[in-house]
Amino acid sequence: MLTAGAVQAQTGSTDVELRQAIARDYDANLGALFDDFHRNPELSGMEVRTAGIMAAQLTALGYDVTTGVGGTGVVAVLRNGAGPTVMIRADMDGLPLAEQSGLANASTVRQTDSDGAEKPVMHACGHDVHITALIGTARQMMARRQDWSGTLVLIAQPAEERIFGARAMVQDGLYTRFPKPDIALAFHVSADLATGLIDLPLGITSSSSDSVDIAVHGVGTHGAYPHLGVDPIVVASAIVMNLQTLPSRSINPLEGAIVTVGSFHGGIKHNIISDRVDLQLTVRADNPETRLALLDGIDRVVRGTALALGVSEDRLPTVLRSPTETTPPTINDAATAARVRTAIGAAMGAERLVDNPRTGMGAEDFAWFVTPDTGVKGVYFSVGGTPAADVATAPGHHSPLFRIDPQPSVVTGVEAMVVAAQALMPKG
Ligand SMILES: [Zn+2]
Ligand SMILES: [Zn+2]
Repeated sequence: MLTAGAVQAQTGSTDVELRQAIARDYDANLGALFDDFHRNPELSGMEVRTAGIMAAQLTALGYDVTTGVGGTGVVAVLRNGAGPTVMIRADMDGLPLAEQSGLANASTVRQTDSDGAEKPVMHACGHDVHITALIGTARQMMARRQDWSGTLVLIAQPAEERIFGARAMVQDGLYTRFPKPDIALAFHVSADLATGLIDLPLGITSSSSDSVDIAVHGVGTHGAYPHLGVDPIVVASAIVMNLQTLPSRSINPLEGAIVTVGSFHGGIKHNIISDRVDLQLTVRADNPETRLALLDGIDRVVRGTALALGVSEDRLPTVLRSPTETTPPTINDAATAARVRTAIGAAMGAERLVDNPRTGMGAEDFAWFVTPDTGVKGVYFSVGGTPAADVATAPGHHSPLFRIDPQPSVVTGVEAMVVAAQALMPKG
């Protein structure tokens, strides 16, 4: 627990009043709100209950609220005089996992997904922390509106886990129907980071992601007479192996690049050569050139491998890049990120800021809010979610065992956001 007093002693804060106010809000409101969100997760694009709570809370706080933006998205606006427009985003969705955290408030929810299948649902990425913190931020920014000047836009975004919610909100007029932000902020709680700490890079924070579906068409036959058919399992296996040469042999080794085949489905039984295998890929890159090289390379490798193994020209595999599960890399605006870091360091203590190296190629559709063509400057950061003593052994995000420590995660997230927003919208 980060009690108001403990944190004050721990950091030598210059803004004790803010931290105490957030801690009190957690005890009075935010703790129960988090508990409710955690018990009642919803799948991507189906965050109806969650969005309803977000809209009701933000309306009650005095914000001008619009629902149904890009699906279940919620937009709340507070106009507070002249100055820049700052947007703060929280994502709302859970994941199709059966929670095994052992927590008292573990989810037992099941929901029928957009594919018609009933699935267990769990907040296994910590988005419940984000939406709880957005309400806490909304309350503090309203209470302190004499201390800043500008327009604040708070958004609750659907479907981050399937990386289509951010773009859906932009396409539904987020930047035309509402005040267009100069700067967009978001944070993600991190199981890999000790509670109380903040990691705010000056450059890239997450990779691009593209989902690709490949259908390999073979010619079915008896397993004992393979020469009479074309075995799609052998062809697909070769495709999987050859795809690994794209990152390793065709991309500059100093650039991040991943082609992961996460799903491989085919076949009926032991002695039947089937006529189809379906592959599902995720493709990750840190810059647009690498991304394009990987996507084009997949087309080339799939076609070439299939031809080499006897698939006829008219039955070549189909390669489909998802039109919705696609996001560019998320790259912080260096100057704005530096401003926010300075403000957080001054208000919360410089020792709370850490520079953890990236350890993988996670993606985040926050990128859609801050692509270069939008002109919106982005700052995205991580907030610690695991007690320091447990960081080394904490279950990761998207694990059914995932368990974040909500109180210090929410309190730190709210404080960092309020400090950042006030620094970016100074009075006068
Ligand atoms: Zn996630
Ligand atoms: Zn997440």
